Amino acid sequence: MVAYTLAVHGGAGTIDRAALTPDLAAAYHAGLRHAIEQGAAVLAGGGSALDAVTAAVVALEDCPLFNAGKGAVLNADARHELDSAIMEGTTRRAGALAAVTRVRNPILGARLVMERSGHVLMAGADAERFLSAQGMELVAPEYFTTPERLAQLRRVQADGRGVMLDHDGQSVTDRVGTVGAVALDTQGRLAAATSTGGMTNKRPGRVGDTPVIGAGCYADDATAAVSTTGTGEAFIRAVAAYDVAARMAYGGSSLADAAERVVEGLPGVGGQGGLIALDRSGALALPFNTSGMYRGYLRAGAEIVTAIHR
Ligand code: ASP
Repeated sequence: MVAYTLAVHGGAGTIDRAALTPDLAAAYHAGLRHAIEQGAAVLAGGGSALDAVTAAVVALEDCPLFNAGKGAVLNADARHELDSAIMEGTTRRAGALAAVTRVRNPILGARLVMERSGHVLMAGADAERFLSAQGMELVAPEYFTTPERLAQLRRVQADGRGVMLDHDGQSVTDRVGTVGAVALDTQGRLAAATSTGGMTNKRPGRVGDTPVIGAGCYADDATAAVSTTGTGEAFIRAVAAYDVAARMAYGGSSLADAAERVVEGLPGVGGQGGLIALDRSGALALPFNTSGMYRGYLRAGAEIVTAIHR
């Protein structure tokens, strides 16, 4: 039996230490911890890596501090367009959703796309129609909106700052970000999941890296499970998540080296952010090129670790 491992992230960015009050920092740590506990309970019970990343990401989507599900950021029209993806490493099945507006837990929607649609990526209102026909609960778009997100959008629009990475604002609530999880289960299987509201003030219709398999999410038992966060356009152009796996498969890189090189390469395509990556030996890498990344992990038999800055 393999020792299970689970890691999560809640977004990377310029996380200003001064703006992060002790209470707020404690809330983020608690949110990360809760998500890890949800995923770990699945793994400890002999469940699959796929179920574990699903459970962890549902918890992060339900936490309004993070930019996914409830508390997701708003686009330029003050609407939510949510992206998500999930992939399991044994058969490399994958499912993803782009620009949905009414799916309460987009990661559950991505999983339904994977398991029941015969497709990998579905988008918009027709994807919601499919999910609803499959029995998925849809919510009014207002469900996702929090007063903090509306204030954040108005600040960005008033400043003329254009599109903003969720984490790069002036107050700490501007910086919390995209969420994701990677897991290795007791049978040695890997899985990854990523979910996001995207970038504040993004153009309506813009789709980021999150639902693009190989950019924001990737899993292959032979190499790694990867979930990314940061400027989506750069992660798409770098094919970032897959590049971690490819460096391992073709170049013989270790997980740590592959993950570091990919993050180091992001500025070359105008990107900032980070990723979490896990291989089937349980090696874990959580590199980022920003001042912080909300993150945490658990190895079987050890304590949960959560961190925000370096
Ligand atoms: N990668 C996400 C996107 O571009 C944003 C983020 O990670 O905060 O949609």
